[in-house]
Amino acid sequence: MEMEQTALLVIGAGPYSIATAAYAQYLGATVTVVGKTLDFWKTNVPRGMFLRSGPDWHIDARDVATFEAYGKMCGLTHAQVKPVPRDTFLDYASWFMGRYNVTPRPALVTHLARANGTYTATLDDGSQILANKVLLGLGFAWFKQYPPELTDKLPSGSYTHTCDTVDFEFFRDKRVLIVGGRQSAFEWAALIRENGADEIHITYRDATPQFKEPDWSWVQPMVRRTLEDHGWWRRSTHEEQEKIRNEFWAVGRLLLEAWLGPRVHQPNIHLHEKTVVVSARTLADGTYDVLLDDDTTVNVHHIILATGYLPNMQNVAFLDHATILQELQTLNGSPVLDTEFQTNLPNLYVTGLAAMQDFGPFFGFTVGCPVAARIVGEAVAENK
Ligand SMILES: Cc1cc2nc3c(=O)[nH]c(=O)nc-3n(C[C@H](O)[C@H](O)[C@H](O)COP(=O)(O)OP(=O)(O)OC[C@H]3O[C@@H](n4cnc5c(N)ncnc54)[C@H](O)[C@@H]3O)c2cc1C
Repeated sequence: MEMEQTALLVIGAGPYSIATAAYAQYLGATVTVVGKTLDFWKTNVPRGMFLRSGPDWHIDARDVATFEAYGKMCGLTHAQVKPVPRDTFLDYASWFMGRYNVTPRPALVTHLARANGTYTATLDDGSQILANKVLLGLGFAWFKQYPPELTDKLPSGSYTHTCDTVDFEFFRDKRVLIVGGRQSAFEWAALIRENGADEIHITYRDATPQFKEPDWSWVQPMVRRTLEDHGWWRRSTHEEQEKIRNEFWAVGRLLLEAWLGPRVHQPNIHLHEKTVVVSARTLADGTYDVLLDDDTTVNVHHIILATGYLPNMQNVAFLDHATILQELQTLNGSPVLDTEFQTNLPNLYVTGLAAMQDFGPFFGFTVGCPVAARIVGEAVAENK
């Protein structure tokens, strides 16, 4: 059987991948996308969740098929998109793919290797694709963070990461402890309570965040600056980067959406601010006693780690060890990228969360999609 060939193989079918595939195709490149469409959003983000980002963020490099254009076409009212429900975002992404004729192949890449300057991907259906260029749109799920100073204290089997905890029926009539102080910790708590859990405890290091509408308006102009000057983030001093990161994360950590407050301030959601887990033990009935450092003990059926995501290319098991992982230049686990999102391995590009180190924290959110799509699209469409 002859091996399928493509100019650009995009691995993953999340927002970053489809945004770039659409734009590269628009510029005339032959693109193959492999991945289940919006799989992370469908299987790792809970039903009933709302987006933090507003309707002004979109994924079109051409600023045409925007979320606002989609909303107008569907006649969505302000109330229907403030906040944006997960499913509305999924519908927008499907509409976007239709507009640009992006049709991902619903498979997983199980192996990617490099030889003689080209790439061979093996799919879980056994087929192989030969590609001149590859874009890794790895997204979030490869990079779940399990802080060892926490997990070392927890009995095995007592905890799961939020990424793997979206079936809330399991928690009906049960007690649960959530570890983490950001939006996901509080939103999981609200959703789990609304699905009939008995008691929910949340433990976090900092003070309880305020629930009020955050101001993200400064983010869009800042990320757009990357289009004129691809390297501004990496050239900024450490202090300048820290300042922006702090501002960006302050919105995430110190302010939580106003609509979440009333859903969290409930008699059976207990907020243990400024605490950390000291120890945990399994009881004879299979529940866990967890001791916090304010001497409170909570007894729960399960522990959820809302501990976020941190890029580490070594986690990405489908990348061939000898020809990719060993050769790939990384810093702090993230790939070192040139100003076109290209790794040190020619024609291997990385976008999204794993590009944050060189392009800024915005690339962990959809606000970076149109910008990354423009830059990568133009780079890969050259000499297509
Ligand atoms: C709980 C939560 C809430 C969030 N809310 C927001 C929000 O409100 N606004 C916002 O802008 N951002 C939000 N984000 C961040 C959001 O996830 C990103 O903005 C967006 O999903 C990033 O797109 P992506 O394409 O990089 O990654 P992903 O959406 O993670 O997509 C990557 C895709 O690649 C696929 N994939 C990986 N490996 C392979 C392989 N080997 N073969 C085939 N496919 C593969 C995965 O299945 C996945 O579907 C949120 C994140 C989380 C965790």
